[in-house]
Amino acid sequence: MIVAKFGGTSVADAAAIRRLVEIVRSRTAARPVVVVSALAKVTDALLGLAAAVHAGDGAGLDAGVAALLERHETTAWELGGARSAMAAIAEDAAALRRELGAALGRMLRPAELDALAGRGELWSSRLVAAAVEGAGLDATWVDIRPIMVTDRRFGRATPSMPALTARARECLRPLLELGRVPITQGFIGATPDGTPTTLGRGGSDFTAALLGAVLEAERVEIWTDVNGLMTADPRIVPSARTLRAASYEEAAELATFGAKVLHPATALPLVRAGIPIVVLNSTRPDDPGTIIEPSAELERLGDSPVRSISWKRDITVVNVRAPRMLGAYGFLRAMFEVFERHEVVVDVLASGEVSVSLTVEDRTRLDPVVRDLGELGEVWVEERRAIVAVVGIGLRTTPGLAARLFRAVQPANVEIISQGASAINMTFVVREEDGPGVVRRLHQEFFGTC
Ligand code: ADP
Ligand code: ASP
Ligand code: MG
Repeated sequence: MIVAKFGGTSVADAAAIRRLVEIVRSRTAARPVVVVSALAKVTDALLGLAAAVHAGDGAGLDAGVAALLERHETTAWELGGARSAMAAIAEDAAALRRELGAALGRMLRPAELDALAGRGELWSSRLVAAAVEGAGLDATWVDIRPIMVTDRRFGRATPSMPALTARARECLRPLLELGRVPITQGFIGATPDGTPTTLGRGGSDFTAALLGAVLEAERVEIWTDVNGLMTADPRIVPSARTLRAASYEEAAELATFGAKVLHPATALPLVRAGIPIVVLNSTRPDDPGTIIEPSAELERLGDSPVRSISWKRDITVVNVRAPRMLGAYGFLRAMFEVFERHEVVVDVLASGEVSVSLTVEDRTRLDPVVRDLGELGEVWVEERRAIVAVVGIGLRTTPGLAARLFRAVQPANVEIISQGASAINMTFVVREEDGPGVVRRLHQEFFGTC
């Protein structure tokens, strides 16, 4: 069997869903499980409703829910009706309106935000199931929530692998054996007592990988709006090239440092069994895309040891200087304990003799971190920074690379430089406004185009 995941732009409207249907049809012999994201931008729109609720803006809330409903209705109509799917969506939208109406004037709790954000996948999967069924294939809509059993960390829930393994095999394998195509949701799950959760933004890729791992898929296909993993984000570098193949490590590093095309955790569940991930363009289904697997033959891009450049904006740098602690044991441990206690993830770290700089993406719990770090030394925070990462398996073995990197990064001021433990990335922290220019200059230096 295979898992085929379709991202937001690949289900954005009726035309995209029709393309999806043809891709699924071409895969029926491989017995696909189809995982879908919400229609493009719907998750953002749903989360946007939380602001109207908080502001007590009942009219804004009504308009927001109505616009979402209309978008799904138009898509259903263009797909030729999808009447029972639309009835289910309309009923759920009405329930959502009532739930949110009851919360008018206050901030939604994390559990409520997850129940809200996950609606998009529940609705899109109904439309997709109807379209696949309408095209003469045997589709079955499957609610992933009782299968994707997670903990209660709303907004970034972690699935329980034993429960997922048992339930996915029990619920999905019999459908595949009957020759049916299960159509289910990415991104969402539920706690053992049935409270809805989400796996984090962009999490549908992770869902696909998890299902691929527990169902022992031949491959996991990630259908998106670009031709695969590229030498840079084509929105920043229009001449970026598609990589024919990549290693799991490269894919994971790129994703961690901003290549949105894959969720950073996607490779994780697939490494042990060596299941390949193929990133494909749903508007050009015959293009080969990028294959990510251990045995992939990695092409050299000219003489470049670098294979891709990514960047991530809206990064905060936390600096800690601990003069009194100079040489003291335990300073780093004490510092990391603070981050661990507040569950704040650190991306890049650089340490000197008396000071440490690190980057964090999620600012929501930063205040208590800064307060607690203040007990260890002097702390200062810099906002609106970007991380630029240069990734390539060849970085491990290429001496003299630093000079080329520095030449390309100038004249931007580099605030932190770090080489990851895996030695396949070099990261730079720069001011956010310098990020795209640095990416373009690095692309020019290593691939000859920008
Ligand atoms: P989906 O909705 O299919 O999940 P996303 O928007 O999450 O798609 O990810 C696809 C986008 O990732 C592309 O449109 C592209 O702009 C961006 N991207 C960033 N870095 C890269 C890269 N190195 N290779 C390919 N795409 C990239
Ligand atoms: N729809 C979700 C999001 O926008 C999940 C995904 O697209 O992967 O984050
Ligand atoms: Mg995505």
